[in-house]
Amino acid sequence: MMGAGEQEGVEDFHSQKAFYEAAAGPLIDQVRKWLTGRGQKFSQAAFVAIERTVELAIEALDLDLETTADPAQLAGALLDRCAQMGYVVCFRPEPHPILGRKMRACIDRKGRIIEIYQVALATLAERLPQELRNLVIPLVISHELFHALAPRCRHSELGAHLFAARVCSSPFFPGLLDAE
Ligand SMILES: [Zn+2]
Repeated sequence: MMGAGEQEGVEDFHSQKAFYEAAAGPLIDQVRKWLTGRGQKFSQAAFVAIERTVELAIEALDLDLETTADPAQLAGALLDRCAQMGYVVCFRPEPHPILGRKMRACIDRKGRIIEIYQVALATLAERLPQELRNLVIPLVISHELFHALAPRCRHSELGAHLFAARVCSSPFFPGLLDAE
């Protein structure tokens, strides 16, 4: 049982059972569910535009995703790509100083720093079945990389989740792991 403070704003997906149910359908249904949870709607045209932005970001990422199918290898390749782009990636053992345990990661584009909060990653991993837990780190790194590659994306959270799903060949929409 979590404390009352931590439950604030947590969606239905926080139990593994709820996650399995939400993640069972096609990706587009999972995206709709996620958007509904956030009170957002997209026209078909807007969604196509976001997918195009994601496609361009994947081209800009320029990784051979076929040879990086192993999540640990993929995480390494993504970290190398961050370094090539001038980003320092810091894995922080303590929660985010202001936003706390729910904050997975953040990117400072000016300072070229990506911070990843390990406490939040552990929480994300708990929501996943064992065999998918090693996707958490590459999902989070690729999510932040999208913000670096497509800084002007108008729907950056949806774009970043779609990008991460594609890069990591995720069988589920990573937004379903959101705790906000
Ligand atoms: Zn984001």
